[in-house]
Amino acid sequence: MTSTIDFNLAEKPRASILIVYTGGTLGMDYDQNGSLVPCGFDQVLKRVPVLKELNINLSVSSFDPPLDSSNVNASHWIQIGQIIKDHYEAFDGFIVLHGTDTMAYSASALSFILQGVNKPIIFTGAQLPIASPRSDGHENFVTALEIAADLQDGVPSVSEVCIFFNHLLLRGNRSKKVESQHFDAFESENYPVLAEAGIIIDYNLPSIKPYEPASKLRLYTQLSEEVLILKLFPGINRSTAASILGAANVKGIIMESYGSGNVPHQSWFLELLKQTIESGVVVLNVSQCNGGRVVQGKYEASSSLDKIGVVSGGDLTTEAATTKMMYALGRYTDMSDIKNCLTTSVSGEIN
Ligand code: ASP
Repeated sequence: MTSTIDFNLAEKPRASILIVYTGGTLGMDYDQNGSLVPCGFDQVLKRVPVLKELNINLSVSSFDPPLDSSNVNASHWIQIGQIIKDHYEAFDGFIVLHGTDTMAYSASALSFILQGVNKPIIFTGAQLPIASPRSDGHENFVTALEIAADLQDGVPSVSEVCIFFNHLLLRGNRSKKVESQHFDAFESENYPVLAEAGIIIDYNLPSIKPYEPASKLRLYTQLSEEVLILKLFPGINRSTAASILGAANVKGIIMESYGSGNVPHQSWFLELLKQTIESGVVVLNVSQCNGGRVVQGKYEASSSLDKIGVVSGGDLTTEAATTKMMYALGRYTDMSDIKNCLTTSVSGEIN
């Protein structure tokens, strides 16, 4: 259910923003055992009285119960997408309050299932609960709202799915959580920062997706959960690799390889990969590095991969690769359509 927050604004509000509250540390408090548990949005509202000074008309749609984002799955992405779609015309922008643990997966997933976006959809959260005096949640939440309400020459400054965290606005499907203690939790190694918030909010306009006034929002609700991630490590043996590559009910495997896409160049490993692909499973090769890209064939250690049929993930993050695989397998049945989807940009996730 969506409810409007009554601030009794004196002036005409400059924008209407819908907050989708899913949970996460921002809205958590300590239980009797000293563990952080999610609380309702009223707890958040009480702690950020400055919201009424923004002169923004705010409404909220809350998950019930709110989640620790480690419990998020594809059904929650569809729920977020459906809330945004149902309220798309009535609002100028959307803030998704979400836990940091899986925020990069969720922002990536939303960038695939919601297409034709021409309004800001900004994920944010916090490393410290908003109830804590030193919480980073205040700054993250308030500045994300400022960005979502911002217009330049009458059009939204940002019209894509983003993460705003610790002064940086990042493309959602290029982001990774890289830090669990400090406030600089997210980075985007393979794509420039979209905006930096200091005394002013400095937008990097050439890197922001251009505003497309005529685009129509579409929501794709089929996501396949028949995917897994195989992270290579030195010493991975035949039986471990065989049990992962041969897992039942799996249609897509994200293979996290070394460096620029390298894998153990032993015949048993390449043979296992070949058998997996011949059985109809899509194998998408992404790098364990945060920056750079997969270039199959650059080294001997990746030279057979193209021939076997491993799909190069280029500069996709693991988060974007996993959610894109779920989207591609949910949307297409034909193998060439699936591969084409994985290797071409759907919403700026791959170069
Ligand atoms: N476990 C929390 C979550 O992802 C962590 C956070 O929000 O920072 O929901």
